[in-house]
Amino acid sequence: MTRTIVVGAGMTGLATAWHLQEYGHEVEVLERIDVAAGSSWGNAGWLAPGKTIPLSNSSLWAYGPTALFDKHAALDVPVRVDPKLWRFCANFMAHATGRAWDKTMAGLTKADLAALAAFDELEAGGVDATTQEGPFIIGFENEKKAGGFLKEVEGAQRHGQEIPFERITLDDARVDAPMLTDKVGATYRMGGQRFIEPGPYCQAIADSIVERGGKVTTGVEVVEVRSTRKPAVKLATGEWLHADNVVLATGAWLPKLAKSLGVNTLIQAGRGYSFSVETEQPATCPVYLPDPKIACTPYQGRFRVAGTMEFRGPDEPFQPGRVASIIHTTKPFFRGIDWDDRQDEWVGSRPVTPDGLPLVGATKVPNVYTNGGHGMWGIILGPLSGKMLAKQIETGEVDETIKPFNPLRGPFGGL
Ligand SMILES: Cc1cc2nc3c(=O)[nH]c(=O)nc-3n(C[C@H](O)[C@H](O)[C@H](O)COP(=O)(O)OP(=O)(O)OC[C@H]3O[C@@H](n4cnc5c(N)ncnc54)[C@H](O)[C@@H]3O)c2cc1C
Repeated sequence: MTRTIVVGAGMTGLATAWHLQEYGHEVEVLERIDVAAGSSWGNAGWLAPGKTIPLSNSSLWAYGPTALFDKHAALDVPVRVDPKLWRFCANFMAHATGRAWDKTMAGLTKADLAALAAFDELEAGGVDATTQEGPFIIGFENEKKAGGFLKEVEGAQRHGQEIPFERITLDDARVDAPMLTDKVGATYRMGGQRFIEPGPYCQAIADSIVERGGKVTTGVEVVEVRSTRKPAVKLATGEWLHADNVVLATGAWLPKLAKSLGVNTLIQAGRGYSFSVETEQPATCPVYLPDPKIACTPYQGRFRVAGTMEFRGPDEPFQPGRVASIIHTTKPFFRGIDWDDRQDEWVGSRPVTPDGLPLVGATKVPNVYTNGGHGMWGIILGPLSGKMLAKQIETGEVDETIKPFNPLRGPFGGL
């Protein structure tokens, strides 16, 4: 039986392991902390192909410099001597053009179109979790502020997505999102999207892997990967574990193990924060405030509020000021919320690449692969990436959906 080790128990690693079992592999997932201990826990849980678009875009040239001097801005880049960080920022900004946006969007679209079906497949195959249909309610202070967002929706449609999208009244929006205040002057409804509770969903995949005879071992850190005749991983304890294949799915920590395997596309932790609050009247669906970049989702009977893009190291301490900024920018748009009654405060690191494309496929080292670098969209794209990487490992064939995600495309991604 083919034995495959997957390092990292986030959405991408778990989905890969699950799909390898479909091909009959004996799988072991090795995880440093616990299932969904990285970015796959406190995120917004949006399965929104219509929003699964490049992060870098031309509006950054105006937004970036103002954000640097606004302590409440969603984008937070610490001013410090950090050549790696500034190299990443320079490359990220080099992709902030209409041409680069179109190139990345073209690379994402096939995966976007197949992403939701990959969740249906997990559930049909025994993963005990469900996705929920939207709609998504989107609010702006006024119509003028909606321009950039409308352009993004139009861009995704131009690349081949059908996105039911309409302007609605505030009263109509309040049917699903009763917390919106009168400060919300322009409201839209986006259909065709879904959402999940991401932590419990990942746990359900992990449980399914174990039920089908696989292993999910937590509390073990992999410190090195090598391949001579067969690949092997070294644990922090010094023990070596051998396998026929190794998949690295270590999120924002991917470069630590993958750089020496020829995967030299830069990955920066784009740290986001979230917490949950009670609302006087519950929302039935996700709510998005694109201007302050706040993404909210119903979660365990409460309302998860998520936001910010903080370019720090993935292991740096939680910054309480970021939560204060989320509250500061969100409060005027929401009513009936006790902001002091926060639970589940969390920071997680999106694995962001300069060109906005993931790193899914073979490394330079035989039988060692990566599945990561999904940035803002590793939850929606994780199951599809896992399915297609499993197919590549088993058959050698690189599916069209992940062809643009070649992990050996170089330090600057698509440029
Ligand atoms: C605020 C916020 C909101 C978001 N909202 C959405 C959304 O709505 N929809 C969406 O699609 N995406 C969203 N994302 C992005 C999404 O969370 C990530 O893209 C995704 O979780 C990445 O999954 P992953 O499995 O690649 O990495 P992770 O979930 O970070 O998993 C990596 C795992 O590897 C483990 N690990 C690391 N190094 C080692 C090692 N050496 N040995 C063993 N284990 C190791 C870590 O402990 C971790 O558990 C959001 C992110 C944030 C921060």
